[in-house]
Amino acid sequence: MKKILIFIGPPGSGKGTQAKLLAKKYGYKHISTGDLFRALSEDETATEKEKQALEEMKSGKLVSDWLVYNLAFKEIKKNLESNVGVVLDGAIRSLEQAKEFQKFFEENNWGEEIQAIEVSLSDDESFNRLAKRRICSKCGEIIPYLSTTKDLSDCPKCDGELIYRQDDSEEIIKKRIEEQGNISLYPIVNYYKNLGSLKSVDGNQAIEIVEKQIENIVKL
Ligand SMILES: [Zn+2]
Repeated sequence: MKKILIFIGPPGSGKGTQAKLLAKKYGYKHISTGDLFRALSEDETATEKEKQALEEMKSGKLVSDWLVYNLAFKEIKKNLESNVGVVLDGAIRSLEQAKEFQKFFEENNWGEEIQAIEVSLSDDESFNRLAKRRICSKCGEIIPYLSTTKDLSDCPKCDGELIYRQDDSEEIIKKRIEEQGNISLYPIVNYYKNLGSLKSVDGNQAIEIVEKQIENIVKL
């Protein structure tokens, strides 16, 4: 099994869920930039420059590339050097970043340890899933829009009422898909395809089936 698994997929594709499932099952470290930023904001040893970049991000500015590299590279290195594999979830958001990560991997002789996994989904389906997913008003469980869950009226965990999220307004979703959907992913997907490191699974399928197919890929 490769040591560096890179998950790529549009919003609503379930890539985050899959990345976590896989990390848990194989004892890999799940790395998302969101988690790294949250950890940094609680880190007392953070530098002034890092703190400033975090503040800028909170006010809606784009994430600084150098901060992503700083945090992600440190975390990847720490784990691989302790012989723990990593699952990267949404850490690479542009072609420039993909190239920078690749450079870092090759400098550390991990060039052969990379498997990129695309969980594919059309932008239309991505929109549908985000617009129709619900959240439990009591416990916060997110209920994805799937054939098995679309008719639920109460939370399967606590019987709380299921509601639509304010964040999931049509405009916000459209903007998210514009920024993180297939148009922005295409160059990244293509980059890994050209490196011979890419495998794709169809994200339209049930979670368990996608999970099984990803397992078959990583076990090669
Ligand atoms: Zn609930």
